[in-house]
Amino acid sequence: MHLTDGFDRTFQYLRLSVTDACNFRCSYCLPEGFKKCGSPPPLSRDELRRAARAFVSLGLRKIRLTGGEPTIRPDFDDIVADIRTVGGLKKLALTTNGYRLHERVERWHGLGLNAINVSLDSLNREAFRRITGHDRCHEVLHGIHRALEAGFSDVKINVVYMKDINDHEVADFIALTKTLPVSIRFIELMETGDHAAFFRNHHISTDVIADRLKTLGWAPTIKAADSGPANEFMHTNHAGRIGLIAPYSKDFCKSCNRLRFSSQGNLHLCLFGNFGIPLRDYLQSDEQFEELRERLISAVRSKDANHQLAFGNAGMTRNLSAIGG
Ligand code: SAM
Ligand code: SF4
Repeated sequence: MHLTDGFDRTFQYLRLSVTDACNFRCSYCLPEGFKKCGSPPPLSRDELRRAARAFVSLGLRKIRLTGGEPTIRPDFDDIVADIRTVGGLKKLALTTNGYRLHERVERWHGLGLNAINVSLDSLNREAFRRITGHDRCHEVLHGIHRALEAGFSDVKINVVYMKDINDHEVADFIALTKTLPVSIRFIELMETGDHAAFFRNHHISTDVIADRLKTLGWAPTIKAADSGPANEFMHTNHAGRIGLIAPYSKDFCKSCNRLRFSSQGNLHLCLFGNFGIPLRDYLQSDEQFEELRERLISAVRSKDANHQLAFGNAGMTRNLSAIGG
């Protein structure tokens, strides 16, 4: 049994948000920091496990835990262990700002986490502090090394590529891949409801990086049919890879293979959609498994072909911490 929409897309990948709270204040996401807004608590461990079980029973093979900052949950390690018990799940991944990596990553590896994406928008201590509000550049880099030492073979670094903020650091990031076997993902800044002006001032296309990579002898890798939206490049003299994620490119939505589930239990069919489908009521007992599956099947069939970003419609998403990027 697989989840498919009306455009022949099959969904194998779930981004499961475990909280919308965060301790960082990234200038493109939560510049004023996270503010509690009186919403109910995030999904409990049981609710998360039930959601994961239903999605995996419908053919999803990869779950990424995200947020907000997932690792600020005191029960984060238990969540990893719980979801690992779901039979049929192949890959359990995490997206994190990296603040706990250096001290926890061995444990997470032991609990069965397979892949880690770490956000690191600058290699410069002061610029990192300006972007995130935290003087932790060195700590996060150290955590990335610890992840590789712990045995993670799939480590990615997410860099939101921004004009006049970090666009001059591309050469430094490329240099990092010389010896470090990581994939560095330059992500184009996306427009969200809260940050239209920031987007206008700092959005820049990653085409510039693609041209530069080709001049430097980097070759595009062939995309697997089920791979995500990144275009990846490799180089014989570099241990790592470079990926470019360009949500404004015209074919971006064609390869969409992911669904998103918010920490309040809403299914989001598109990061830039206008609504989330509330499913928390179906997560209250193990007996609701079949009912939940039916809801998921019919909801996914209604997914639209494309997002509407090119028409200035960023949907209801006020910032990406709400549904996990
Ligand atoms: N807190 C974790 C982190 O920062 O990695 C996970 C959640 S964060 C919302 C997930 C990813 O979305 C991060 O790599 C972040 O840089 C990216 N992101 C957030 N807002 C963005 C925006 N407006 N445009 C592009 N990427 C964004
Ligand atoms: Fe927090 Fe991640 Fe948003 Fe930065 S990008 S404020 S770390 S949720």
